[in-house]
Amino acid sequence: MIQLLPTDAPFAPQLEKVRSMVEVLAYMGNDLFPINSARESLHKQSEFELSEDGTWVLSKKDKKLLTSLGRRGHFTPFTHNGVIFRIKMPIYIARQWFKHTVGFSYNEVSRRYVSEPPEFEFGFPWQRKPTDGIKQGAGEVFNDETQERFNSEYAVLIRHASDLYSNWIARGMAPQQARKLLPVSYYTEFWQTGNVESFARLYKLRVDPEAQLETQQYALAIGEHMSKLFPEAWATKTRDYHGEEVAALNSRIAALEAQLARSENERLRLERAQAAA
Ligand SMILES: Cc1cc2nc3c(=O)[nH]c(=O)nc-3n(C[C@H](O)[C@H](O)[C@H](O)COP(=O)(O)OP(=O)(O)OC[C@H]3O[C@@H](n4cnc5c(N)ncnc54)[C@H](O)[C@@H]3O)c2cc1C
Repeated sequence: MIQLLPTDAPFAPQLEKVRSMVEVLAYMGNDLFPINSARESLHKQSEFELSEDGTWVLSKKDKKLLTSLGRRGHFTPFTHNGVIFRIKMPIYIARQWFKHTVGFSYNEVSRRYVSEPPEFEFGFPWQRKPTDGIKQGAGEVFNDETQERFNSEYAVLIRHASDLYSNWIARGMAPQQARKLLPVSYYTEFWQTGNVESFARLYKLRVDPEAQLETQQYALAIGEHMSKLFPEAWATKTRDYHGEEVAALNSRIAALEAQLARSENERLRLERAQAAA
């Protein structure tokens, strides 16, 4: 049964499914790569340190450098950690995904050449169009009864499209033309090679609540892999520095206010002392 969830929450059952469709084929580097590529300018290199619990970690000095590189927006040090993902996602999401170009290479299965029976996405809860004049995105999830009705209508369409596709292929139609029958929810598959910098950029844009909820699930899956492969570098690149800057500014303002209050108290104390004299 489809769960009713708030629209800003990830659809957990779908995330489980999506996780299996985002696969790491190969990767290069570790958390030292951004640090050592930056240290190359001084012809110096760092090593991991053995922590008290027996794990290899970045030294305090290296962590500080990493944070500074992230905060100042240096990007080249974060381009040396490479990853190749194999991703399977519906065409309508891939259409959005392939907009991310800088720092990426893609190679995709071609339905000009491949005529295997297509697979279709099924199971994301159907949502209403947004209200309050919002043009983009989706609103509330339909109730269970309506979900089932949409699901059965959708199932009829994809079954028909799928059957007709196979039928046309069997009758000798070129795959590049038979694919015109397929709804945009059929799965495509591709390799995507990128780095911490480029994937962090994609991630931040696509986990944002403004992004389509289905697309967010794929970005979350990328984030899970990246944070396992390069925990410190990934955290540095996906941290909200703006939030941090605001917090730092607020604490400076608070300190200044406290200082002003102390001066004001001192001024009042002196005034009282002078009046009493
Ligand atoms: C919520 C959401 C809604 C969207 N809606 C739409 C939509 O309705 N229609 C649509 O067409 N797209 C839409 N997009 C796609 C969006 O406009 C971008 O194309 C996509 O997010 C990729 O952006 P990017 O900055 O990562 O691009 P990339 O091409 O990966 O570029 C990365 C960065 O490199 C730099 N760069 C790249 N090319 C140049 C250049 N020519 N000159 C100077 N600097 C450059 C920029 O700093 C850029 O941000 C949407 C994206 C999101 C997240």
